[in-house]
Amino acid sequence: MTITYESTRNKNIRNKASEAILKGLSDDGGLYVPENYKTINLEISSILDLNYNEIAKKILSLFFTDFTEEELNYAVKNAYDDKFDSEDVVPVENIGNYEILELYHGKTLAFKDVALSILPYLMKLSKEKNNIEEDILILTATSGDTGKAALEGFKDIEGIDIAVFYPDGGVSKIQELQMKTQEGKNTHVFGVKGNFDDAQNIVKKIFNNNEIKEYLLRKNTILSSANSINIGRLIPQIVYYFTSYVSLIENKRIKKYEKINFVVPTGNFRNILAGYLAKEMGLPVNKLICASNENNVLTEFFNTGEYSINRKFIKTISPSMDILISSNLERLLYFLSDGNTEYIKELMENLKENGKYVVNKKIKNKMDQIFWSDYSTEQETLKSIKEMKNENNYLIDTHTAVAVDVYNKYRKKTKDLTKTIILSTASPFKFIESINKALKIETKKECKDLILEFSKEFQIKVPEGLNQILDNPYIHNKVIEIDKVEEEIFKILDNEEENV
Ligand SMILES: *Cc1c(COP(=O)(O)O)cnc(C)c1O
Repeated sequence: MTITYESTRNKNIRNKASEAILKGLSDDGGLYVPENYKTINLEISSILDLNYNEIAKKILSLFFTDFTEEELNYAVKNAYDDKFDSEDVVPVENIGNYEILELYHGKTLAFKDVALSILPYLMKLSKEKNNIEEDILILTATSGDTGKAALEGFKDIEGIDIAVFYPDGGVSKIQELQMKTQEGKNTHVFGVKGNFDDAQNIVKKIFNNNEIKEYLLRKNTILSSANSINIGRLIPQIVYYFTSYVSLIENKRIKKYEKINFVVPTGNFRNILAGYLAKEMGLPVNKLICASNENNVLTEFFNTGEYSINRKFIKTISPSMDILISSNLERLLYFLSDGNTEYIKELMENLKENGKYVVNKKIKNKMDQIFWSDYSTEQETLKSIKEMKNENNYLIDTHTAVAVDVYNKYRKKTKDLTKTIILSTASPFKFIESINKALKIETKKECKDLILEFSKEFQIKVPEGLNQILDNPYIHNKVIEIDKVEEEIFKILDNEEENV
């Protein structure tokens, strides 16, 4: 069965998987979705004895039907190797009453490594398959974690350049360090004066800027994106919903076909959307619990059916979730409306013009059946870090703490005792300063000393990726105004961008 990808906003735009991966965003501004996804099923029995890479290959081959088995083999093998410091790639840990899916064992210590380790290979293969001779320039706005994971994944890949834009002052100390010390001849990093939404908006605009398009043509370059909108990121994330389920069966924590919940700390709605697709493929899921921080636009949406960005943007201690416009939600709306592209287009126009939209009753009812949502304040997030440490001597980062707090609220409000997996999206080392604040161990210490101290106290090894950046010199130091982003892109195209 061939799977085709169409725009969420236009049924006439249809592409093969490899074409959609290359383009990132569809020409009409919509997102690519697997149009006949309902035909895709994965029977749990068929993956029970398989390891991560084998399950990954199986799932990717169901969605990326224009790739050969050999090609997918190559991509998976190169993506999930010893870059991940766990044999299972993403292990499930049983911590007290919680099942924690640790998604942060990749190089940059966040869950985005799972998708961004494989995207460069998928892109390279897509380029070859479609006989693309041009160079590719990848533009990526990041709230902190995507940027580093994408830079690491694409560094020194032939024929591809990558530029990352992060909100200056809006990322954690470690995230900033990670990006500023990024090596690779083809990497470009910019702090921008604005928040993540500003950065994402300007990048989206550049994709539709005619002046830049013409210039690119002359420079024999095409644009692509490593942002959450690329299906080459979305689909690989489905894998760990299945592997974690299988792991619970193996460890006799659930019976085969028993339904479970997943709690996902959510920002741009890419992680949890993969969970939705897993459920559609037949994974026994009871509820997908969407956990927000104080930018609780999604919590409001799931509870009222109204999505409104007419509110203040709040800087929180879980910065990778500081987002008001959750791009991937558009895909969920497409799925829940049974692919009604005209309707999605209308909603997105409302969002653009009035900063909000309200979904119809039918969609709201479907949302209620599948999703549950709440949010965690800063105080509650810090408290949940502290409790986890006191009760289980286990460290969680601020994003995971949001999920744990929301899960506890869910338990209290619904009395639902269904087995539940909490997705842990970052290593505690990555947000060490906030953890320090939660535990109030010592306030004067610098980042590096804190890391060493925590490593000692909790007897966890400092991850390889972190060791490297602590002593490395800064390579990228540019901070620019939002309206200078285009100028910098011209410079990259002219090979004039210098690292200062
Ligand atoms: C990106 C990120 C999130 C949010 O995930 P989305 O897919 O954007 O919903 C949560 N936690 C961490 C650590 C992240 O890096």
